[in-house]
Amino acid sequence: MKICPKCKSEYRKGFEYCSDCNLKLEDKKDISVIKKSDKVEIEYLMSVSNEIEAKQIEDILKYNGINILKKHRGAGEYLQLYLGMSNLGIDIYVSSDLKEVAENIIIENLNMQKYYEENIDPKNKEDFNQVGDNYNRERKIWIFLIVFSILTIIGLLIYLL
Ligand SMILES: [Zn+2]
Repeated sequence: MKICPKCKSEYRKGFEYCSDCNLKLEDKKDISVIKKSDKVEIEYLMSVSNEIEAKQIEDILKYNGINILKKHRGAGEYLQLYLGMSNLGIDIYVSSDLKEVAENIIIENLNMQKYYEENIDPKNKEDFNQVGDNYNRERKIWIFLIVFSILTIIGLLIYLL
């Protein structure tokens, strides 16, 4: 089967030129091969839970010359519009020939992040715990105050009645 590259008319074997366009016919197979190599196929890479995480992945990959496609899951797109933030999750896609590279970059970055978390300055770690201690202390004071107030009110009621 032969095909005209311009008007895409198909011709039986034996014809060499398109009768309408006067162009040399091409084998149909060749055209489909060209089309396939032109098409950019995208593949699912990973999912993240929100736009902030998606932005992080996007920045890391963009820095390495890889563009991504983001797809908000379900009603995510609408929620994004109204609330500015979606928690339904975002699927990230990349060009399929770059998928492996993208995966390696992300794994590398996650390992790096883990390394920093494990080797965080011990002084900062203490500060972190300090925040938790202060919070607990504050909570104890509040509970004490509430119990004390209730007891005072009960005491007053008993005294008055
Ligand atoms: Zn033609």
